[in-house]
Amino acid sequence: MSQHKPKLVVFTGAGISAESGIRTFRDSDGLWEEYNIYEVATPEAWNKNRELVLEFYNKRRKQVLNAKPNAAHKALVDLEKKFDVWIITQNIDDLHERAGSKNVIHLHGEINKSRSTVDETLIYTIKGEELLSGEKCERGSQLRPHIVWFGEQVPMMDVAYEIASSADLFIVVGTSLVVYPAAGVIDYVPDNAPKYLIDPNEIKVNGITNLTIIKEKASVGVPSLVAELMKDRG
Ligand code: NAD
Repeated sequence: MSQHKPKLVVFTGAGISAESGIRTFRDSDGLWEEYNIYEVATPEAWNKNRELVLEFYNKRRKQVLNAKPNAAHKALVDLEKKFDVWIITQNIDDLHERAGSKNVIHLHGEINKSRSTVDETLIYTIKGEELLSGEKCERGSQLRPHIVWFGEQVPMMDVAYEIASSADLFIVVGTSLVVYPAAGVIDYVPDNAPKYLIDPNEIKVNGITNLTIIKEKASVGVPSLVAELMKDRG
């Protein structure tokens, strides 16, 4: 009979991809790679200057295509041998998938996909590096990046809350926990579940029980925590 695997939920943010060469934006004063995020990552920006928004995401896409998963992404894959692992990520890159993780929920969309501006269920994989003005969905409307912008609903939020609320263990990696509603995921984790937070900087967390803070970079903190959890499972 197969052994029951505890459910381990991992919540990741930009910090887990920092050592793959993809910059976080909190670390750079509200600028994301020299762009003011509100001028490129809002519905208003799309209506005002579509070319600039497309250019911004085309650059991000090129950067992601040239990046590789790091030791933290890879270590999370090892956990699948002994745990039922679910990754809830705020990242738009695909480094968890490329490392080999099976269950990845993207709260804020995916950089390598586009979607229709008249029907949000029409989602396409972008072939190559660029999405351009004039590229249309099968219903004839301009395609936009498949990204959840500031001010938009987060369609995967309820799925994430449900996964978090049934976690036996919970790991947070590389997120400032200031972007809502995503950051609220941690509040759904059962009180008695052991929780770990890995980040080299001080993160404000209030009222979270059973929390161990590991003040390390992801590439160091994640592999060592994974090794410890695997050992505990025998
Ligand atoms: P954030 O920029 O607000 O916070 C990043 C966190 O990572 C900080 O707490 C920082 O201390 C930590 N960090 C920096 N280097 C680290 C390292 N080497 N190891 C571990 N932690 C490290 O990011 P956020 O909380 O994810 O929120 C920003 C939003 O911006 C996200 O929701 C996402 O949609 C978007 N974003 C995505 C990417 C990506 O896809 N890789 C990159 C930048 C921003």
